[in-house]
Amino acid sequence: MKHWQQRERALDLLSKEVGYVRKPHGGKLRVALAFPNTYFVGMSNLGFQTVYKLFNAEDDIVCERVFLPPKTELAEQLAAGAPLVTVESQTPVRDFDVFAFSVSFEWDYTNVVTLLRLAGIPPRAESRTTHDPLVMIGGAVTFVNPEPLAPFADIIAAGEGEVLVPSLLQAFKAAADREDLLLRLARERGFYIPSFYDVRYTPAGTIEAFVPREGTGAPAVVKKAALKTTDAVDPPVTTIFTPDTEFGSRFLVEVVRGCANLCRFCWAGYNYLPVRAFPKERILELAERARPYSARAGLVSIALCDHPDIEEILTRLVDMGYAISPASLRLDDLTPAILDLLRKSGEKTITIAPETGSDRLRRVINKTVTNDEILAAAEIIFASGMENLKLYFMIGLPTETDEDLVAIRDITLQLRDVMLKHARRRGHVWRIIGSVNPLVPKPGTAYQWLPMEDDKSIDQKIKRVRSLTAGIDNVYFNVKSERHSFYQALLSLGDRRVAPVIEAAERNGANWRAALAETGVDAHHYVFRDRSADAVLPWDIIDGGMKESFFRSEFDKSLRAEWTLPPKRQKENARLLPVLN
Ligand code: SF4
Repeated sequence: MKHWQQRERALDLLSKEVGYVRKPHGGKLRVALAFPNTYFVGMSNLGFQTVYKLFNAEDDIVCERVFLPPKTELAEQLAAGAPLVTVESQTPVRDFDVFAFSVSFEWDYTNVVTLLRLAGIPPRAESRTTHDPLVMIGGAVTFVNPEPLAPFADIIAAGEGEVLVPSLLQAFKAAADREDLLLRLARERGFYIPSFYDVRYTPAGTIEAFVPREGTGAPAVVKKAALKTTDAVDPPVTTIFTPDTEFGSRFLVEVVRGCANLCRFCWAGYNYLPVRAFPKERILELAERARPYSARAGLVSIALCDHPDIEEILTRLVDMGYAISPASLRLDDLTPAILDLLRKSGEKTITIAPETGSDRLRRVINKTVTNDEILAAAEIIFASGMENLKLYFMIGLPTETDEDLVAIRDITLQLRDVMLKHARRRGHVWRIIGSVNPLVPKPGTAYQWLPMEDDKSIDQKIKRVRSLTAGIDNVYFNVKSERHSFYQALLSLGDRRVAPVIEAAERNGANWRAALAETGVDAHHYVFRDRSADAVLPWDIIDGGMKESFFRSEFDKSLRAEWTLPPKRQKENARLLPVLN
């Protein structure tokens, strides 16, 4: 795609947008901000929109957006060698000071490499010169385990944008040159400079140590940067409205950050602690302001109802004429009042995550609800007139047996009975949709040492769940394949030696099997190995705030099927787990 064609496409996108920022470039720090996927996907991402807003809120920064071109144009653009340009001013990315990435999903790692190539920037940091923009990688996945992306980044921004953006600007203003900037950032909380560390390995191939290079002042461990409180902070909201996104012109808002339930597999739960609510009045003011551009509010918090004023917020959003879509609801969030508000706003589907079918296995993973409570919640859900119930389950959990798989079928049948009772009364046919994924043990969780269950065993379990849930009227199950989770686990649990696999997969069109064969990287080492005796884990270079001793004790309790704190005890959680010090 030639430059004029990219320009036309950008102008077409801008003509349909409300809220983008156009600033002169002179005398400012110029940031090209990439979402490593298409415009359609990226513009639905609240994290990406938030960083764009935070950058442009600074008078001394101009930030413009960049996306992966649509598939049909990508090959052509790579072949033509036309420089990748930003949406706002159609300026080549190479002319910016910083090329920043907001990365939310492991599957987008290959797209990071593609965008660097499209921009004419060497993908590997070691091959860049002072003439290249600084490549900074941030976003949710990178502060959990940035190591597979480390060779591509000059800077990894670990933590929350609200804290990182001002620190970056200050360092830029004070720095004499590129090297000086990196040295300054290395001393700031939340900035990890991968080239400032040598990684030493043991003969067994595990990491022995991250060794900061002499003279860099880089810390032994980089502390994640996070807001201590959100009391006086604007909630992240959609600032650019466009019809060309996954969710259309939806007003997305983060009502509360974090979740205190401490499910042992959940990196989002652990990594966004402590629970912090955004100010009610600002949420409502921003919603009011956005109403002319949007008729649906998407609430993206993982623990929506931990906001102390949630009922009032929902009531007032409905009064403003918004239809409301919660991203997900915890079972303990489901009160008749909340469900009534959601029904009133036109919602027909509720998604809940029992995770597994047996109370015993739920104690193992610290999901502190029981089957009785799930069935009680279903009564309220269907009594409110909701027509579809989506259920998330996992398999491959520690201590899982065939009985637990049968229990997935049994709880589904019981839920179906509740549904049929209410559906018949109303003379309708409703549905239950189950989704089953193999557990991918995640960094920064109590399961970070756990190997993924081996492929043969998971395959058998997948077949077993498929056959158990097949042929039940009004129930539809989607069971994910083991291979999909295996490659995701490699990207989650890998270290910087996985980077060549990402490069190879980027070249060959995401054929991960061929990428592994080509590079000779032993994926089993990362995915199927028990890490509990490892001295250093790849993600230990970032201190996310949780204590290793806590995770160890949670892991042991898991094997004993013991619960930790009950839900709705955020204060105690925050006191016991001092994330921010
Ligand atoms: S309830 Fe559990 S799984 Fe859900 S966000 Fe909270 S910690 Fe994670």
